[in-house]
Amino acid sequence: MKLKVYGNNGSEEENNTCFKLDNYLIDVPRNIFKAFDKQELNNIEKIFLTHVHPDHYGGFNDILLRIPINKKIKLYTANDIASSVRKMTDPILYFIENDGNIRHYRFEDKIDFVELKENEYLIENEYKIEIKKTKHFVPTIALKITHNGKTFAYSSDTIFDPELIGFLADADFIVHEASGGVGHTDIKNLESLSDSFKEKLYIAHFPKNIQTSLKKLERKIYTI
Ligand SMILES: [Zn+2]
Repeated sequence: MKLKVYGNNGSEEENNTCFKLDNYLIDVPRNIFKAFDKQELNNIEKIFLTHVHPDHYGGFNDILLRIPINKKIKLYTANDIASSVRKMTDPILYFIENDGNIRHYRFEDKIDFVELKENEYLIENEYKIEIKKTKHFVPTIALKITHNGKTFAYSSDTIFDPELIGFLADADFIVHEASGGVGHTDIKNLESLSDSFKEKLYIAHFPKNIQTSLKKLERKIYTI
């Protein structure tokens, strides 16, 4: 798999944490027009949303308004997160029809929702997709995506949670937040993990001045 990192940290000026794993976009930064070039933007069809905080969801409505009238976005997330997206997108789903009339579309007209459930997995085009709910302010999911025998894992936003570490541990490439503060993970907790976990670990959503021996996820393309 190819992991393209558009954003790796918690800075408001940058793209926060946003990745593309093959054709799957994972979270949507606030300023999509800065994050993606036009070609990339037009090719976005499949989006994983880990939660609806603005630094992970902020550009979603912009993408929705850009897609051609007869196309849909495929949205992969948990049911409670999709319910929030439904509420937040409804007021903007107005499009001009071919006859020039403006029509209010429904969530289902523009979004193909694929429900992800904890303790179950989804197989799509030889990608195995698993989630685990994290402990954050709002409903949030961590992800594990396996393809060709390799697994990418992403904590999304969470407090440090040994159970979640257990869920992520069998992956080959693990991205974990290290934002610190309430509702997030302190870098000290990640530094105390086993060497075998830390070898596969890349920290993201970190404060700019963070001091650590752990690897920082960089804004580049990784092969997993
Ligand atoms: Zn958050």
